[in-house]
Amino acid sequence: MMFVSTRGGTPPVTLSQALRLGAAPGGGLFMPSEIPRHESTRFAAGRPLAQFAADWLRPFFDGDPLAADLDAICAEAFTFPVPLVAALGGDSSLRALELFHGPTGAFKDFGARFLLACFDRLAGDEPLTVLAATSGDTGGAVGCAAEGRRSARAVILYPKDRVSPFQERQLTCWGDNVAAVEVDGDFDACQAMVKAAFADPRLSASHRLTSANSINLGRLLPQVAYCAHAAFEAAALNTGNRPGFIIPSGNLGHGFALLLARAMGAPVGPVVLATNANRTLLDWCQTGRYQPRPSVATLANAMDVGNPSNFERVAALGDGAAEVAVELAHDEAIRHRIAADYRDSGYVWCPHSAIAAEAWRRLAGPARDERLWVAAATAHPFKFAEIVEPLIGRALEPSSALAAIAGRPTARQRIAPHLADLAALLEQQRVAA
Ligand SMILES: *Cc1c(COP(=O)(O)O)cnc(C)c1O
Repeated sequence: MMFVSTRGGTPPVTLSQALRLGAAPGGGLFMPSEIPRHESTRFAAGRPLAQFAADWLRPFFDGDPLAADLDAICAEAFTFPVPLVAALGGDSSLRALELFHGPTGAFKDFGARFLLACFDRLAGDEPLTVLAATSGDTGGAVGCAAEGRRSARAVILYPKDRVSPFQERQLTCWGDNVAAVEVDGDFDACQAMVKAAFADPRLSASHRLTSANSINLGRLLPQVAYCAHAAFEAAALNTGNRPGFIIPSGNLGHGFALLLARAMGAPVGPVVLATNANRTLLDWCQTGRYQPRPSVATLANAMDVGNPSNFERVAALGDGAAEVAVELAHDEAIRHRIAADYRDSGYVWCPHSAIAAEAWRRLAGPARDERLWVAAATAHPFKFAEIVEPLIGRALEPSSALAAIAGRPTARQRIAPHLADLAALLEQQRVAA
């Protein structure tokens, strides 16, 4: 299997090269040169996720040096449960796919752990430098996944005063090979610095820079696997129609992963991409035209994206993106959904997952009742306690993993939003290591 750029024009690369490079040269994103199709009779519900994932992902690793390690990589990455929960009671057609039982309490843990497990086998003698800009959950998951590894150090840039207190804590609490860097600027400034660093051939080569944002296919492959796994599980619960899926979407990595799983033969029915007030995807769905917009700030901040970077991949799927709807929820609807579902059923959504629950509510009655619907519950509500607690009128308990983060010491560095400052910091990190 080879991988090609969404924008064409560059020679195909192996999976290992695609993971190491992150983005394709020329700014495109890597896609498999063909979509592998599985005989669905080879897959069934009830298998442990790590084994299922290795089998589901095997075609992508075909012919790559990482192929021999695929089982081990999956065993390392998939170590926590992914329950499918009847959040609103067994009579409702809604199931929450809880993706937040990993060490940093969001689905980003899957991608980060899988990618770093791949880097362990790709790095060779000298460590890679994983450079990431973050406004939410990615930085914490990457820092956690990188901690203590010899194959990689992580440098994570985040915007000053724009992340929540818990988010800042989980960016700044990892070991020596993880540097949390507070940038005196906004998220766009952080992202611009990362892009400038990758575009500087000397800097990029001397630090062996690589990306852990969702442009990197290695972040998305484990998501393809758990989406397919959940589809078989949900299909087994209700043997009539294939389950529908509702995905809270920002950069569209998650949505793309689900559509790829469906294109590969997973029993996924209709798909709803659920967004916050950032309306780029809704406009695309209604008009057929894709027009990026500036992002607007919402309660679901990990989805505050006006130009989803993985849109190119969804577009490249062609027919694979058929039967996709978009549903948009404003902050008011997020608040209402969290409060009302807690009152009626005792279940607590995070602000992102609440948008998926709201999208399910808005389905027409027959569409809602004719099949099971799987809503991706993307983060643990405790991570957004300052939003959720006043709505439900009680304190939230952290998971044990999140409680452990709250007890760790933190450290950060500060820089101005200039490439020269980042270059100096990278050099200093190397000397320290
Ligand atoms: C990253 C994130 C999303 C959005 O996922 P995309 O793959 O960027 O669409 C939604 N919810 C949470 C909690 C996230 O961390």
